Amino acid sequence: MKSVYKRILIKVSGEALAGKDKTGIDDDVLEAIGRRIKVLREEMGVEVAIVVGGGNFWRGAKNPEFDRTDADHMGMLATVMNALALADKLRDLGMKPFPMAAIQMDRICEFYVKSKADAHLKEGGVVILGCGTGSPYFTTDTGAALRAAELRCDVILLAKNVDAVYDKDPALYPDAKKYDTIAMSDVLAGGLKVMDLTATAFCLDNKIPVKVFGVSDPENIVRVCRGEKTGTDVICK
Ligand code: UDP
Repeated sequence: MKSVYKRILIKVSGEALAGKDKTGIDDDVLEAIGRRIKVLREEMGVEVAIVVGGGNFWRGAKNPEFDRTDADHMGMLATVMNALALADKLRDLGMKPFPMAAIQMDRICEFYVKSKADAHLKEGGVVILGCGTGSPYFTTDTGAALRAAELRCDVILLAKNVDAVYDKDPALYPDAKKYDTIAMSDVLAGGLKVMDLTATAFCLDNKIPVKVFGVSDPENIVRVCRGEKTGTDVICK
């Protein structure tokens, strides 16, 4: 099987990892994602970096009773829990995962340094990046955009609970319109909920295309890399 991409960044939201329970980590989901990453790496030769969210445990902005910086630090710790869980799963599946965090925590995982992540990817490892950007007031979407730029990834695969980009929430509005393709400038102008605005503006500025798809069918991860159409293409325009 051939991939249309050489190096990709997959952003897996915390919510996607939570499966039906909407909180915590669903082992079946983790395994299903892990198996597809193995196909990408071992059968298709794709270099895979992954940014994990933390929303299945904690989101800083959703907890205003705490100081925002403290709350965001808690959110970043949540992303590390997901990174470790995914790394564990990939190891069980016989792969070489490297969990890395944007904040130093030597006893737990490597500190993210671009050149080290790059070397792991070239040597066939899968890097799993925790703590997003490493700074409060940001999200893991922006972390994904930043790392995709640094690591020169061809594309960001946005693995979500929703299967595509819509003009309004399809769970609330049955008449919501699904986009096959949408320009980042239209996402920004319409305030559409694809990635957060900072991440979208960053991708537009740095010419990083984004593919949004639902991870409820995890095979979509492989389909996108084969060049098949699934979900929404968010293009740099
Ligand atoms: N976070 C942060 N800086 C970052 C990335 C994440 O402070 O660069 C914190 C923030 O509190 C955020 C939480 O970590 O709410 C979890 O990340 P995110 O909401 O992006 O997770 P997702 O929605 O993708 O599961």
